[in-house]
Amino acid sequence: MIVDDPRRRIPRTDQLLAHPLVVAATRTLSEKVVRGIVRAAQDRARSGHITPEQVEGEVLAAVDSRSASSLRPVLNATGVIVHTNLGRAPLSDPARQALADAAGYTDVEFDLATGARGRRGAGARAALLAACPAAEDALVVNNGAGALLLACTALVGTGEVIVSRGELIEIGAGFRLPDLIQSAGTHLREVGTTNRTHLQDYRDAIGADTRAILTIHTSNYRVIGFTAAQGPAELAPLAREHDLPLIADLGSGLLAPDPVLREEPDATTALEAGADLVIASGDKLLGGPQAGVLLGKAEVIARLSRHPLARAVRADKLTLAAIEATLTGPEPPVLAALHTRAEDLRQRTEAFAERLRQQAPGLKVEVLEHDGRTGGGGGAEVPLPGWALHLPAALTGALRTPSGPELVPVVATTREDACVVDLRCIPAAAEDQLLAALCGAAPEIERMGEGRR
Ligand SMILES: *Cc1c(COP(=O)(O)O)cnc(C)c1O
Repeated sequence: MIVDDPRRRIPRTDQLLAHPLVVAATRTLSEKVVRGIVRAAQDRARSGHITPEQVEGEVLAAVDSRSASSLRPVLNATGVIVHTNLGRAPLSDPARQALADAAGYTDVEFDLATGARGRRGAGARAALLAACPAAEDALVVNNGAGALLLACTALVGTGEVIVSRGELIEIGAGFRLPDLIQSAGTHLREVGTTNRTHLQDYRDAIGADTRAILTIHTSNYRVIGFTAAQGPAELAPLAREHDLPLIADLGSGLLAPDPVLREEPDATTALEAGADLVIASGDKLLGGPQAGVLLGKAEVIARLSRHPLARAVRADKLTLAAIEATLTGPEPPVLAALHTRAEDLRQRTEAFAERLRQQAPGLKVEVLEHDGRTGGGGGAEVPLPGWALHLPAALTGALRTPSGPELVPVVATTREDACVVDLRCIPAAAEDQLLAALCGAAPEIERMGEGRR
């Protein structure tokens, strides 16, 4: 007697590939990826993990949930504005549009009027100079670290750069600025102590090999108490006296002073104080795409642009398009979140809480004070007063891992046994998505016996 082998009932590859929904998926997924999905489902049936009858359903679910990029959009409910793990600055609408427009062929290095080669990044440069008139010239590179590497390589080389010991920071994920500087072959001449560095320390260190003075914003930490530090205003006269360029690595990228972050350095102030070159990140408080922004004296920017390393760290057309659109458009989301008034956030959060109570009557919902943060190495230790939803703690995990592909993952925080959902960084247009995510997660925690009023 022949025993029926269930494996013979596994649908054939050509059958599965011909399914209309699988054919439709090939508009966004390559044939190779789709075939991989089919093979994986067949293999699972062969090894007995699923029945042959389940293969087709598994293939359809897999092609439906698989997007072309594995990066998933999330809602940032942490109240931390420049959240490095969540991609730093969310782009403004005009910047998103500019990315899409620049995605195909574009005149990034072409002059349509003459048909000759054009200057790459001319639009981004013009927008930067309009936003920061204290700069004579500007250059956009791949990121802040690339900008610092280029500055050290082109201006200092294997000579010496003088830096205060109080400014040799690690900015996250083990990335240390002194290591970066030394990787350029540059000799780091440390002066002063962790808490105090005087102008005289810089003066005493200047020697035949000195090529530049560098001041670095300590970004993500603050030294308080018995301290002394020299900024661009103090260092500029010394640098000029010795004909050395003064480089200010500001990190977070404010172009002008901001009333909310009074201690945060900005490019205009640094340049007016006499810095020859300012370095900043495009995706921190500038609110744009990942980029390194170099602003300063025309002759210094020219030296940087001419250096071969400039090509290795150059910005791509998408970055250039998005930076320009960020600067010429309305206040980007990062600055809007920074400038949100506590009272407005309270009213918005109360109104949202009311909607949530109606949709999920069993859920315990409170609106309590909650400070936001700048994040991304800006405004260290400066609380941004505000309000947030306080929900049962088990929601934090459930919100991150929603049950269906139609729900957006929400990144919230857990504080004192509550799931805290801060609306500061949630666009108003995404409130319905947040509500759906919360309603989707609430039953799960009710099943776990938590969250009842
Ligand atoms: C963030 C930061 C950098 C690095 O900038 P990226 O754009 O992340 O490469 C360099 N210097 C300072 C002071 C920073 O805060």
